Amino acid sequence: MSSCIFCKIIRGELPCTKVYEDESVAAFLDIKPVNPGHTLVIPKKHFENIHDMPDALVAKVAVAAKKIADAMRNIGVKGVNIGMNNGAHAGQIVFHAHMHVMPRYGKDSFSLWVGKEYYGKERELVAEKIKAALKS
Ligand code: AMP
Ligand code: ZN
Repeated sequence: MSSCIFCKIIRGELPCTKVYEDESVAAFLDIKPVNPGHTLVIPKKHFENIHDMPDALVAKVAVAAKKIADAMRNIGVKGVNIGMNNGAHAGQIVFHAHMHVMPRYGKDSFSLWVGKEYYGKERELVAEKIKAALKS
């Protein structure tokens, strides 16, 4: 994709601080890290989000994210969050699929989510809907 900033990084048209690369995946530091070392793992080929990616490529990106998480632990990082924003409603800003690998140190000002309560039959209903969609 010609205008995609992550495709430009892959083509070498924009700089990045690369930490890992193989034939199908690249990983480089996020320019606005949650904590130093926050890494983005991306497929080299352009896909907008996880829904568009072939399963095998999702697995390759996830395995690369684990490698980086393991490396972080080896250099003293206390915990690691791995996350992926898929779609604008999920906070995706760059529409080239990427996994965030975020070093964590307990109460370090980054907050993932605040859990809500389920009311009435909502929990059973949503579980049934997801299960039905999985079968279709
Ligand atoms: P999101 O799409 O919300 O999952 O987040 C996109 C992430 O990409 C943000 O954390 C940005 O800080 C990061 N980002 C945007 N442009 C660049 C860039 N040129 N190099 C590295 N990270 C970037
Ligand atoms: Zn792209």
